[in-house]
Order: sequence, then structure tokens, then C-alpha cells
Amino acid sequence: MAIGCGGLLFSLYSKMIKHYFICHHCNESFTKKVQFQHHIHQENHDIDIEKCNKYKNILLIPGMGHIDINNTKALFKLMWQPCIKNLAILLGWKSPKALTLCEHCTDHHKAMQILDILFESLTSELLKAFVKYCNEKKQQPDVINLYAFAKIQPKHYQFLL
Ligand SMILES: [Zn+2]
Repeated sequence: MAIGCGGLLFSLYSKMIKHYFICHHCNESFTKKVQFQHHIHQENHDIDIEKCNKYKNILLIPGMGHIDINNTKALFKLMWQPCIKNLAILLGWKSPKALTLCEHCTDHHKAMQILDILFESLTSELLKAFVKYCNEKKQQPDVINLYAFAKIQPKHYQFLL
């Protein structure tokens, strides 16, 4: 059976799959692999420990939520110094401890909201300059011209794309 999930559920299911065992000799359940190993040794059972894994037939597939968390953390790591740190301070993360918690995305939903705000504002920043440029050239703004515009701008504009 395949189960797709992410975040906390993925972590909990991973631990559950790794540690839940049922002894095939005495039908006793164990929630820690170490306990089960101790039981096998103590009772002198001759069994393959992996065949006694209660959830051995479950294939855990990381879902989009799990991938989102990893992507968010990667973006925070990449963009913390250039811009996210200043944005976090503007949004109220002021003490060093609060900033550290923010930087490590301890609250995934708040981290996603910060990224939403960042991307929305970066896009607005680029579009404002592009529309102004189009007005001066008396041309209609469109996507193809936006990319052409960004390519002839300083590197920080290219970063916004
Ligand atoms: Zn047993």
C-alpha cells in the first residue's frame, strides 16, 4: 500500500513504520525496535526481525506538503541575507531568538506567508519599473517584453524574475 503525505504526518508515519513490530511467536506488539530485539534475544526466538515489522507493506511517498517544507527551507537559506531577514524584521520578528526561529522556518505556515509576501512584492517591484518603461516607449506591456526588459537591467532585476 502506498501512502502520500507530508510534514508532521510523514515524520510520524516514518517512525511508526520503523518501530512497530509484532512477534510472530507470541503475538506480542512492540513500539520500539530495541524492545523487540531485546524480546527476541530474551525469549530466544529464531525469527527474521524485518518480517515482523507491522507496517512492512506500506510505502511512504512524500507529498507536496513535505516537498513544500523542504523548498521553503531551501529558499529561506538562500534568500535570508539578501532580503528575507529584513522582511522578517519589518513583519515583527525583532529579537535575535525570534529571527533565528523565523530563519529556520519553525512555523511552516508563517514561512509560506513570508514567501508569498516576498514574491508578491518582488513581482510588483519589477512590474512597476517595466510598466513605467513601456509607458515611456509607448508600447503595450507583455510577457515577452518583460523578459527582454529584465535582461537589459542590472543583476538585481534579473534576480526578481
Ligand atoms: Zn515473542
